[in-house]
Amino acid sequence: DVTHGRILYLEDVHVAFDGFKAINGLSLDIAPGELRCIIGPNGAGKTTMMDIITGKTRPDKGTVFFGSTIDLLRHREAEIATLGIGRKFQKPTVFEQLSVYENLELALATNKRVWPSMHFRPNGEQRDRLAEVITTIHLAGHVTRRAGELSHGQKQWLEIGMLLMQEPKLLLLDEPVAGMTDEETERTAQLFLTLKGKHSLMVVEHDMAFIRTISEKVTVLCDGAVLAEGTLDEVQADERVIEVYLGR
Ligand code: ADP
Repeated sequence: DVTHGRILYLEDVHVAFDGFKAINGLSLDIAPGELRCIIGPNGAGKTTMMDIITGKTRPDKGTVFFGSTIDLLRHREAEIATLGIGRKFQKPTVFEQLSVYENLELALATNKRVWPSMHFRPNGEQRDRLAEVITTIHLAGHVTRRAGELSHGQKQWLEIGMLLMQEPKLLLLDEPVAGMTDEETERTAQLFLTLKGKHSLMVVEHDMAFIRTISEKVTVLCDGAVLAEGTLDEVQADERVIEVYLGR
């Protein structure tokens, strides 16, 4: 097993755009059930890394495995979405005209393992799952509300809930607490701690207080490769990391 039991395994990955090396020898792995935070200055390659994992960008060279058996470089973007990798972009994209419940139902209906149908109705097991997800994402009191009426934070949770309906093994989240109130940020931390263990999470974030609450291990990306890895205290004390953040 080349991946050593890791849920996500990247080794010596390279991507150049018109000769510019956006990802330059990136090696990184995530254990099952781990919650990993990714930090790094603008242009470090965080988005490109997510694009590689989800099949949006094809690397020039390198190894990218999901679990021990799935070579992600052999799959297209549309397939990867069905393999158990959920991605959330920074801006929430929910169906504003539909209720919270309908949004979650739709996420279930568009699950590639269920035949998509206008007449889709969740079965008993799926209804249980809906109820569980609604509680997890702190929206139990809002199921009949239109998604458009939710606060920014609630929309973010709803979108996470929509991803959860697909039962992903790995969740990739881009700046999940950007624009949230302090209270929403705190509840998001709780949510992530609930998800950890059951799912593996990779979270790109800038909010250090949030990272401190949720993460044991932080990876610092810079110039398309890993600059440092460790607890937040360890990486914040690392001179190379300080230089990257303050010296540029
Ligand atoms: P981050 O998300 O850490 O800010 P990105 O992955 O967006 O970094 O970008 C890494 C580098 O690659 C940046 O310098 C960016 O300008 C460049 N880059 C990203 N995508 C492209 C592209 N499609 N074409 C050209 N350059 C790109």
